[in-house]
This record gives sequence, C-alpha cells and structure tokens, in this order.
Amino acid sequence: MVLNPVISKLTGKLVVLASASPRRLEILTNVGLKFEVVPSWFKETLDKTLFRTPQEYAVETAKQKALEVAKRMPYKHLKTPDIVIGADTVVAVDGFILEKPVDKQDAYRMLSRLSGKEHSVFTGVAIIICHELEGQQIEYSVVDFYEETKVKFADLSEEMLWEYIHSGEPMDKAGGYGIQALGGMLVEYVHGDFLNVVGFPLNHFCKRLGDIYNTHSESPAQSVKSEPCEEKWTLVNKLSKCVENGEAEGWPDDEGDSAVPASTSRGAVHKLNLVQPQCGSYRNSDFPHRIVDLLDGFKASKTLFAASKLKVFDLLTSAEGLTAGEVAGKIAASVEGTERLLDASVSLGLLMKFKREGTVAYRNTEEANQYLVSSSELSLHGYIIHCNDLVWHLFTHLEHGVQEGCSQHQRAFGKRSDDLFQDSYYSSKEVKLRFMNAMHSIAKVTGRDVAAAFDLSQFKTACDLGGCTGAMAYEFTRAYPGLSVAVFDLPAVVEMSNHFLPHNQETNRVTFVAGDFFNDDLPKADLYILARILHDWPDEKVNVLLSKLSATCTPGCGLLVCEIFLDEERRGPSRALLQALSMTEGRQRSAAEYSLLMEKYGFTQARIKHTQSFLDAILCVKQ
Ligand code: SAM
Repeated sequence: MVLNPVISKLTGKLVVLASASPRRLEILTNVGLKFEVVPSWFKETLDKTLFRTPQEYAVETAKQKALEVAKRMPYKHLKTPDIVIGADTVVAVDGFILEKPVDKQDAYRMLSRLSGKEHSVFTGVAIIICHELEGQQIEYSVVDFYEETKVKFADLSEEMLWEYIHSGEPMDKAGGYGIQALGGMLVEYVHGDFLNVVGFPLNHFCKRLGDIYNTHSESPAQSVKSEPCEEKWTLVNKLSKCVENGEAEGWPDDEGDSAVPASTSRGAVHKLNLVQPQCGSYRNSDFPHRIVDLLDGFKASKTLFAASKLKVFDLLTSAEGLTAGEVAGKIAASVEGTERLLDASVSLGLLMKFKREGTVAYRNTEEANQYLVSSSELSLHGYIIHCNDLVWHLFTHLEHGVQEGCSQHQRAFGKRSDDLFQDSYYSSKEVKLRFMNAMHSIAKVTGRDVAAAFDLSQFKTACDLGGCTGAMAYEFTRAYPGLSVAVFDLPAVVEMSNHFLPHNQETNRVTFVAGDFFNDDLPKADLYILARILHDWPDEKVNVLLSKLSATCTPGCGLLVCEIFLDEERRGPSRALLQALSMTEGRQRSAAEYSLLMEKYGFTQARIKHTQSFLDAILCVKQ
C-alpha cells in the first residue's frame, strides 16, 4: 500500500483541499493527511454540452476548482501551496449529468430518474503541484484522473421518494442522495469504490500520489513528466502562459480482452477529438477544434442515422456481440461498408470493439442499448429516423431556405407543406407513424422531467393539447397518482394511439379525445398542457388557440407550456436555434416572451423551470 510513504512525503508541505465538502474533509483527515481547506470560488458552470462524457466534465471542473485556489493563494493568502487537491462528483444516468438539486422538485426529478436503475458516479480529481521559480514565477503541474462507481437504486415508491426529499438530505449532494446516511437505504448494490460515491476516490488518489512521489527524484514535477495526463504551465507576472503537454489515452492494447468505447479513459481526458472543452485561461494549441468538429458534425450525425436505419443497434445488444461479417449478413450489406460503419460508430462512442475468440467483434455501449435500440423504453430511434428521413433533407436545402425565407418541403419532397401536421397525417400511414414515433421518443425521454418540473399535485384533471401518442400524459399520471389526463389531438393521430400503449403501467387515467384545437371545443380540465405546440404556429394561429383556451379556463386553472426556451439575448441554446432553421412557420421564444404571451390571455404568476433535458417548462395560472 502506498499510503504511508506518500503521507510521509507530504510532511512539511502545504497541502490544500479546494473543497468545502465535509465528506471529503473527513475521508482525507481519517487517513492522517494534514491539509488546509480553502474552498474554491470557481463556479460550477462549465457548459456540459462541450464535453463528450460526464467524467470529462467532472475532471475539468475539479481542475478548474483546484487551479482557482492555487492561483489565488499566493496573492490573497500570501503563501504558495505545495499541492492543491480539487474534486468534483457527478452522477450520470440516461445520458444526463446530475449535480446537486436546486430545490425539492429538482431532487424529485433526479431521484425518480435514478429509481430502479443502475447509474454511474464519477469523481474527477485534480492534483495541482506548485513550484515557486525565480522572479515571482510559479509553475504548476497537473495530474488528473477520475473514478467511476456503479450504483443500483431499488424501485422507489412516491412515498419513499418524498419522505427522503423532506428529510433535507438530498439538497447538497450530487444526484440528490448521500450514500453514507439515509440515502444508503435506497441503494441495492455498489460496484466499485464506495468512497468515490461519498465524494472522494481515496484508493485511486493514493495510487496517483504514489506515482508522483515514489520515484528517485525529489521533484514531483519531474516525476510526473512522463504521465500522459500531465499538464504544465507557468504563471508569469500574474499572466497565465500555457506550456502544457498532454496526450490522449487511446484504444487499449489490442491484445487485451477488455472492451471499451473510444471515449472511456482513466486519467487522461484531454485532447479528445470530437468536442474540446474550453479551458479558461489555457488552451492546448491554436488548432480550431470547435470549427473542425462542426465541420465534421454532419458525418457523425449521418453515421448515427445510417446505423439506426439499418437497425445495427438492434443487432448488437448481447454481450457476445457480432463480427462485421455477421452484421453485414443480417443487414444484407457489404462486409467492407459494414466494417467502416461499425468502426466509425466505435469512434463516436456508440459501439464497443473487442476480441472474441481471436476475431474482432462489436457490441453496443450501455448508452446505445438504452437509447438506440428501437424497442428500448427510452429509445430515440423514432426521432433519429425522422431526422434522417425528413429533417436531413430540409437541411440539405438550407441556403435556399435562408434566401427565400420559407420551408424547403417543395424542393426536398416535391410538394408544398401548408400544414405539416395535416399533410403528414393524411398522406400515408407509414409517414404518420414515423412522425408519431419521433414525437413519442422525445416525449418519453423528456416527459418525466417536465412532469416533475413543478408540483402539480393540486390538479385532478389535465388536458394535453396536441398530446400525440399520450407519452407525456402517461408520464404525468405516473408522477401524480391523483391525476387523469385527456389527450386531445387530430382524429388521424388519435386513431393510431393504440400503437403506443405503455407496458408495465396502468393506462385507465389517460383518455384520448379527437378534435382540432383551432376549431373544436376543448375538453374541460383543471390544467392544460401545451408541449411543443406554440413554437410551430404563426402568431394568428397562436392567437386563436390561446383565446380559445382563455375562454375555456376558469380562474385557478393551470397552463403548463413546455418548449425549448431561448435565453434572453437569443444566443442559444443552439438546439432551439438550429431547429428554427427547418421550421415551417412559427418561432422560438425566450421564457420571458412566453410569460408575456400567456399574460396577454389572462394567464399570470408565471413560474419558469429549465429542466436540462429536451424541454423547459413554464407554469401559469388563469386569473
Ligand atoms: N405534445 C406532443 C409532444 O410534446 O410530444 C406532440 C407535439 S407535436 C410537435 C404537435 C402535435 O400537435 C401533434 O401530435 C399534432 O398532431 C398535434 N396537432 C397539430 N395540429 C393540431 C390541431 N389543429 N388540433 C389538435 N392537435 C393538433
């Protein structure tokens, strides 16, 4: 064990923990480490979309926290630490990063997402080694790494969830639970380092410290020079100058039996090719990573589309996997082409490649099993096929769309689209189902977040206007046992709703009503839901719909609008602005614009929630 020699090497050094977490403090104190606590001022606001994996995000946040303290101390505390330790713990599930909940609803959203499932806890750790050079210069070396632990939650009843939330324990914990206290009762099993889940991977930390100090050299900086994840840079007269050196840890030794997606690496998370995180005051080089990633982005999207369309992910669910030849046989494609598609999918982190009895085989990543297999509960397959078959073609004609300022249906499909919904529904059953599948898949992955965005338990009846397959309605009834939901949609849609009945859930609190929300009476309800409706229509139609809704609602009725909200400067999120490029009519709005719009029709007391999933939500009350 490296612990004692390491601790003795640290004797007499100023070791600083850049974290206010009492749990990290306790873990390190318990092993006899002597250190000062200087909580970091770094705000945990890195843009998560810039990171390919949760662990990259956690490592970068840990590094920024530690660096902030390392750079501040010489000026504010008038002493230079020898070592600064930063850490950041995140919980990752269903492709989302869960940090600390901001309120009880947020805690509910997180915990219900974790219920009955296995999730990953990642702690990113950065060890900053500081050396004072001559002339007030300070040189920093960084060693960083992450640890992953898998945790499985039991199925949590609504009662258990709320009891735990009301205990107050979830509020300052990543993922909304603390495994070392009451939260331990929610956990079925833990695979990996338990202390990592508490907030600090002690064993991995000690090994890395051992790597740094257990050499013949007295200089820790030299001892880490050969580390692939090392970065070095020097502070000169308070200006940061980058002198770093880093390499990506790549594909493991081909001889090994281990199967990893290209994105999985431990201890070296820099220089990943697809999306390069912005690193504050230091950058690796002048190479235009972001532009090159954007440039190649269409190839990545089309690879995902083609693999989905050819049902590759449906074939690769089992642990034994299949060879390129076997996949080619099953999808009636060439072996060479299939192998190229599979390898490209591996590079995108969608498949894993491994040795099986001397031959190379492929299988899905966990994420692909969850989101890309067409039959999986949270499958995005329907939406991907919609993007491939419809949206892709509209984007092909984007220059014309910009020049002419109108939809490119005519150019792309040889016919105009005066009313996208009516068109697609009545043209063919196949097109109708494709559209409904697309709506269904987005509603499935976002419905739970939207349902938990506010406490809606005071409402007993709801009407989901344009509720399509009922996917949202089922999520709402699941979240609120006292709620019944009427899904109101065009007759052509309602007649297909049986295709989308959920398994493992009672369905008798969801009913379907056929009608046209511009022309027909709306069903009576306490709460109306408009999810992804308003952005689709021009102002005149929005006016018709909201006037009708206003006349139908009695005082106290709720109106929940779910859309992607633009930020107030209309600079993002890019999902909303990119979607607008192919919209037939209508427009994207900010939360303030939606709030003003609602107010015009007598819906006030707007409360806004950014859910971090596909859709945000605003809840108003009729005066
Ligand atoms: N609300 C669903 C969701 O978020 O998953 C579906 C949104 S989808 C973009 C728009 C829905 O509005 C479709 O289901 C469409 O059939 C429905 N719709 C369009 N025009 C309608 C109308 N005039 N009356 C009722 N429903 C309509």
